Amino acid sequence: MENKNVNRRDFLRFSVTAGAGALIIPGATASTRKAADPVGKTNAFPVRTLGKTGIQLPILSMGVMRADNPNIVRAAYNSGLIYFDTAHGYQNGRNEEMVGAFFKDKPRDSFIIATKGKFDYPLKDTFEQTYTGLLDLSLKRLQMDYVDIFFTHALGNAKEITDERVVELLKKFKADGKIRHIGFSTHAHKPELIDAAVEAGIYEVILVSYNFKLGNLKETDEAIARGVKAGIGFVAMKTMTGGTEDAGGKKKIDAKACLKWAWKNEHITTAIPGFTNYDELEECLAAAKNPELTTGEKEYLAALCHQDMLYCQQCGQCREQCVEQLPIPDIMRAYMYAYGYKYSQLSKETLLEANLSPDACKGCGGSCKVKCTSGFDVATKIAAIKPVMAIPNEFLT
Ligand code: SF4
Ligand code: SF4
Repeated sequence: MENKNVNRRDFLRFSVTAGAGALIIPGATASTRKAADPVGKTNAFPVRTLGKTGIQLPILSMGVMRADNPNIVRAAYNSGLIYFDTAHGYQNGRNEEMVGAFFKDKPRDSFIIATKGKFDYPLKDTFEQTYTGLLDLSLKRLQMDYVDIFFTHALGNAKEITDERVVELLKKFKADGKIRHIGFSTHAHKPELIDAAVEAGIYEVILVSYNFKLGNLKETDEAIARGVKAGIGFVAMKTMTGGTEDAGGKKKIDAKACLKWAWKNEHITTAIPGFTNYDELEECLAAAKNPELTTGEKEYLAALCHQDMLYCQQCGQCREQCVEQLPIPDIMRAYMYAYGYKYSQLSKETLLEANLSPDACKGCGGSCKVKCTSGFDVATKIAAIKPVMAIPNEFLT
């Protein structure tokens, strides 16, 4: 975790704004809570409504994923942010624990917590028991009776969304008061996933990759519009396309331009950039307070559209071409986590989940059959990312 900018001066600078930024959301219980009304409390950011949940949120939220310093969460909270996004798997559970410890003494109606949980598909016989145990552990780590939004994590095909056993269990979580709203997250911006959510009828929020590099933007926007019409709220992630503007992961991308681009779509209620230090937070806050893209920012993004970057479209076109049927989109995501985010821990977790063998690609003898739609040399990237799996956990960043 990069923490170079954390110092007392910065901490105090954010702390003194606490009075102006503290937010109270009226009427909070797991079942009766009303929409948040942050407008009158800060007037600092544009606010949008998260679909039929009725929750009103500033366009800027926090992806806590890479942050392990509660002072950054405090600064975000004190700056007026409401929605904090974590996951069962982040930092092996420490991320949820940190979030829980920070919010423990805060009014439960002053923040919105989303967490996510993964399951294996096809479902095992023990799915209901295992997945209930996962949610219960998340609640324990968070020290909360309920989470506001529970996302099934990183879904990739429509069957996972409409599967009757998944649907029934999510409904049970809600009926039991453990979650207020049902959602799922997806890196694959496939319109059919959004349409499946509309068909299933239970999903209220979708956390979707959304950025200026999307290859199927028109189709994605049309599907999002259909989802919004059905009452689904949309939260944007991966707005920074991996965090750097070059394929080598060296030059930091202009976060303000990326966020402003995502907010141009008014169907995106809020975005969850994963800032980890005060400078990054301040950059995001500045964008949210003045979200109109400048001419210079438009030109900057237009130029990047034609440039090789780290971001994998997750289109899946490579899978059939690969002689070993490797889960290349997941591996490319792991590559982006390591080289873009400098988050080797999540990179390793993603590679382990993808079951990448240390011997992958060896059978091809240097002659890769994959023609990536983004022009990636996937075999070279796979070779470069494999060593992350061998890094002992205590040395991961
Ligand atoms: S590696 Fe290329 S072909 Fe495969 S999912 Fe990513 S962008 Fe698509
Ligand atoms: S070299 Fe290319 S085709 Fe062969 S296993 Fe690796 S990614 Fe697949």
